[in-house]
Parts: sequence; C-alpha cells; structure tokens
Amino acid sequence: AAKRARQGAVTYSPEIDKSSQKNLSLLSDMRAALERNQFQLWVQPKVSLHDYRLIGVEALVRWVHPERGMVFPDQFIPFAEQSGFIRSLTHWIMDQAAQTLKLWQAQDLVLKMSVNISTMDLMDQDLPQKFAAILDQYALATSQFCLEITESAIMDDPVRAHQTLDNLHAMGMDLSIDDFGTGYSSLAYLKQLPVNELKIDKSFVLKMDKDNADSRIVKSTIDLAHNMQLRVVAEGVENQQVMQLLRELGCDQVQGYFLSKPMPASQLTVWKQDWEQ
Ligand code: C2E
Ligand code: CA
Ligand code: CA
Ligand code: CA
Repeated sequence: AAKRARQGAVTYSPEIDKSSQKNLSLLSDMRAALERNQFQLWVQPKVSLHDYRLIGVEALVRWVHPERGMVFPDQFIPFAEQSGFIRSLTHWIMDQAAQTLKLWQAQDLVLKMSVNISTMDLMDQDLPQKFAAILDQYALATSQFCLEITESAIMDDPVRAHQTLDNLHAMGMDLSIDDFGTGYSSLAYLKQLPVNELKIDKSFVLKMDKDNADSRIVKSTIDLAHNMQLRVVAEGVENQQVMQLLRELGCDQVQGYFLSKPMPASQLTVWKQDWEQ
C-alpha cells in the first residue's frame, strides 16, 4: 500500500482514519460507484504445473475512480465487509464473472472462475439461491465456479458458514481455502468442510527459493493437501525458480506475477495466446 501511495493511488484508509464521517462517505461513494459502473472485474490466470495450460482465473475487483484513479481492494474491501456493502458487491462480481465466462465460452474458451467470498456473504443464507439465479440466467454450469474463502471468514461463525458452504458445494461449486496457513482453524475442523482446494498463502511462496523454512512449510502443505485428496494452488509466484520448485514439490497449480499480474478480463485471450507460444 505504501508503494501505491507513492504512485498516487491511495485514497482511503479506513484502518488509519477512524472517523465515522469519513467511513460514511466511503460507503456512499461505494454505492454510487456500483451504480456508475466504476467497479471492474480483473482476472489473474491460474496455470497447471502438470502441462502449463491455463485452467482458470481468479476474479479480483478494481475500483476505477474518476478523480482518484485506481483504488485497490485492500482500501475498500475491509470496509465493504464491515458495512455490509460487500453483499451487493459480491452479487455484482458474480454477475460479471458469469457474463465473462459466457463471452469466453462463445470463443471456445472454457475456464474455471474463482470468486472471493467473505464472512458477510457466508452469513447470508440466501447466497446459494442468489448464485443459482445468476447461473440460470446465463445458462452456466455451477462446476465452472470455485469460491475462495479464508479460514478466518469461516471461523467467525463456523456453524452458519458450514451450512452455507454445504449448500454451495451441493449445487456443484468448488470450494477453496484461501490464504491457507495464516489462519488458526484446526485441521480436524477443515476436514469436515466440503473443500476441493487449498491455496497456499503468498507469504510462504514469495521467497521460498531463498528461505528454507518457507519452502519446508510449502512442501508440507502440498503433502497435507494431497493426503486429504485436495488440489493445491500456490499464489504469489514471482519468478521461474519458485515455479520450478513448486513443480518439483508436486504442487498442482500456480498463480502470480511471473505468469501475469491481474488484468482486465477483456485482455485474457491475448495473454493466453502469448503464453501458449
Ligand atoms: P487474495 O484473495 O489473497 O488475492 C491475491 C492478491 O495477491 C491479489 O491482490 C493479487 O493481485 C495479489 N498477487 C497475485 N500474484 C501476486 C504475486 O506474484 N506477488 C504479489 N506480491 N502479489 C500477488 P489484490 O487484487 O490487490 O487483492 C487483495 C485482496 O483483496 C485479495 O486477496 C482479497 O482478499 C481481496 N479481494 C480482491 N478482490 C475481491 C473480491 O472480488 N471480493 C472480495 N470479497 N475480496 C476481494
Ligand atoms: Ca483469493
Ligand atoms: Ca490469497
Ligand atoms: Ca489475502
């Protein structure tokens, strides 16, 4: 965030500025932004380490503010969660994600779309029906979606979260535990959840080519995931050495700046052509 501040992109910092006045204006700004189409769906490729093919993308929201420029999610998602606005935003993201998959499908490109879901979404018992309505509208299979949830989002209210996750999984959506390794949930609890994928947090991946402790953590997470019959994805892959190490350790998929930074969804097909050459 500090780097972005220097580039002139930082605008809101709800953590630092505790005045409710400012938060209120952020909330009304976000509401207006949704109506004025200032949010954009960006995507980042997820690639298989078995054959280096593009498997899917993660949807990452961006706010392009007319005066303030690009506002990154860490500057408004935490507040969107606190205020409950995240429910409207998640609905919009799911709709955009579905539209995007539909467009790609028309070009014979069938990919899996990973969407980030937060605690407030999981507390909404109608969420599975709302998602089902969107997929119905676009005639898309639920199996084209993966929902990324952090351990802390689940542990906020494990009973209710578990219920919603069971329902989403029963519809046919994949579930992924995001930022794996940074939370405090027990493996015994995670084992009961209908999870398909573990996503190793980038804090362990970024320097694993230089830091032995990190690479050992990554190795045991990969083994753990496979022992639990789960797919394992590493995020934060910034160089070739890390990608090679992950491949040797048996990791299934990678995501990170080495492959591509997040980009507007409309640029993905061009990226794919370059990548496959
Ligand atoms: P996340 O879900 O853990 O997403 C991964 C973040 O790591 C993204 O930041 C991505 O741009 C960044 N990243 C990807 N590859 C690399 C890499 O190689 N190196 C480094 N240093 N970073 C990498 P982004 O897009 O700024 O999003 C930050 C967080 O905001 C996300 O973390 C997620 O928690 C939240 N977020 C983003 N979009 C959404 C959304 O649509 N809905 C919700 N609920 N949360 C979102
Ligand atoms: Ca994520
Ligand atoms: Ca993550
Ligand atoms: Ca994260």
